[in-house]
Amino acid sequence: MKLLRDELRDDPLFRKLRHGVGRAVADFGLIEEGDRIAVAVSGGKDSYTLLLLLEKLRRRAPIAFEIVAVNIDSGYPGYQISVIEEFLRANGFTYNMVSTEHYAIIRDKRRPGSSYCSICARLKRGSLYEAARVLGCNKLALGHHSDDFIETLLLNQFFVGSLKSMSARMLADNGETTVIRPLVYVAEADIITFSQQAGLPVVCCRCPVCGSADQQRRRMKQLLKELEKDIPHIKNSMLKAISNVHPRHLLDRSLPAALPTSADTALLDGTARKQGGYPAP
Ligand code: SF4
Repeated sequence: MKLLRDELRDDPLFRKLRHGVGRAVADFGLIEEGDRIAVAVSGGKDSYTLLLLLEKLRRRAPIAFEIVAVNIDSGYPGYQISVIEEFLRANGFTYNMVSTEHYAIIRDKRRPGSSYCSICARLKRGSLYEAARVLGCNKLALGHHSDDFIETLLLNQFFVGSLKSMSARMLADNGETTVIRPLVYVAEADIITFSQQAGLPVVCCRCPVCGSADQQRRRMKQLLKELEKDIPHIKNSMLKAISNVHPRHLLDRSLPAALPTSADTALLDGTARKQGGYPAP
């Protein structure tokens, strides 16, 4: 097993990825003194990359924090947890491998024709929260990258009718664990290149829909790829849009800012003119 922790110091792509994570940590206050962070490691390119980046950050950070790699084995036959464990062990990570009966539960509970992913992901997330709690971790780091944020934004608009993506930092439903997504500024293409260059031992989840899951997300990827030909900066612009929200220019009446303010009302009925208060055009 190749030891990666020290080799990566001067790799230019790794430096670029590290810069992205550093920016996210600063922008969203993702890591604080004394944090103990559970890092979800599935054996995919994103989670390995996240783990290596957080470890590099931990070694250089002026504050003290800990990281613990956590793997959830959903019980799909053929899932090569030994490969993941060997990587974690060889690179000196503190880790915890959690074995579950998720596959059996899914086989039992899933309605015919319904999606594997929704029930599988829900069970996995529950196990991750539980593992974080048992391991004394106040935070859980997930490997969602900038493409995930953009695609989720599109999926929610196209199929759900909701203007929603993901948060870089949010308190989980259990009220205890803070979920953080330090790869929010890191592009999937860079992770793919890094993963190949570094020879990360990527393993497949071996679920029944492995590799063919999430057709709709694949359609979003394809759409973005097409649009990128004419609008090369489209992904940057969409990511920026999520952090540049103007509630007054939306239609959600549950947002106070979406309703007319007293200034707007004054403008409408002409009182602002009488008070000499028109804003600049
Ligand atoms: S792709 Fe497979 S492992 Fe991943 S959430 Fe869907 S069913 Fe679960």
